[in-house]
Amino acid sequence: MSRFTGKYALVTGAARGIGAATARRLATEGAVVGCVDLTAARCASIIDEIAVTGGSAAAFGCDVSDSGQVEALVSDVVTEFGRIDVLVNNAGITRDNLLFRMSEDDWDKVIDVNLKSAFLMTRAVQKHMVDQRSGAVVNMSSRSALGNRGQANYAAAKAGIQGLTATLALELGPFGVRVNAVAPGYVATPMTEATAVRVGVTPEEHQAAAAQAIPLRRVGQPTEIAAVVAFLASDDASYVSGQTVYVNGGAR
Ligand code: NAP
Repeated sequence: MSRFTGKYALVTGAARGIGAATARRLATEGAVVGCVDLTAARCASIIDEIAVTGGSAAAFGCDVSDSGQVEALVSDVVTEFGRIDVLVNNAGITRDNLLFRMSEDDWDKVIDVNLKSAFLMTRAVQKHMVDQRSGAVVNMSSRSALGNRGQANYAAAKAGIQGLTATLALELGPFGVRVNAVAPGYVATPMTEATAVRVGVTPEEHQAAAAQAIPLRRVGQPTEIAAVVAFLASDDASYVSGQTVYVNGGAR
């Protein structure tokens, strides 16, 4: 498949997990991929991996919750690539705690990295997509947007992503720019491994417990989220905009 031949994509939080799987998938399908993480060095292994398989990628360092860094990043990427066809706002963090124990800093950090970053990145990139009269943005929400004990900050950010997505689709649609979101359930990544360690079980035990509540009786893999991101970013989804697609093994 080469749905992205001649296209330039930017994926945030691309050093590992779902972001790395997405960068790999888009590159496999022909895109030149800008891999963004807190430092360019963190993207070294995904860049090497893409290069070894014959793909093209470049690493960029940026804290996507910082407006100055985001403006500089997008300017650098446009200088290097000439255009941006696909933006995947994937970077995210968790700082879980019950409300009465949640610090203001944990609230702010999670909102900034998961939600404000998508606003900052899309605001900076849309100028170029609007000029091109084409582009696709895919934002990373979560099943937690529906509510999840211990994740008031994260659930609020991920629900916010869905409202942002619906609104940006209205504003950017007339310029040929589509905006969609993916809402994964439990996916086996370093993020969920860290959660397991924090609650005192192994990642395998944590995944097995989560799987019991999922109709498909297993947790998701990063490649399974990347496949849906790639669909939404591609021309196969040319009439899909403003949607949030849940990818969660059938959980309600
Ligand atoms: P992950 O393994 O923790 O990877 C996230 C990546 O984002 C890391 O490389 C991280 O860098 C980077 N990052 C964090 N803050 C950043 C910032 N300010 N600027 C740039 N990069 C930053 O997470 P994941 O599980 O792949 O999750 C990816 C996305 O999917 C997130 O938005 C997450 O909320 C969402 N999601 C995940 C699941 C799941 O079950 N895994 C479910 C639903 C939604 P560091 O290594 O420095 O932290």
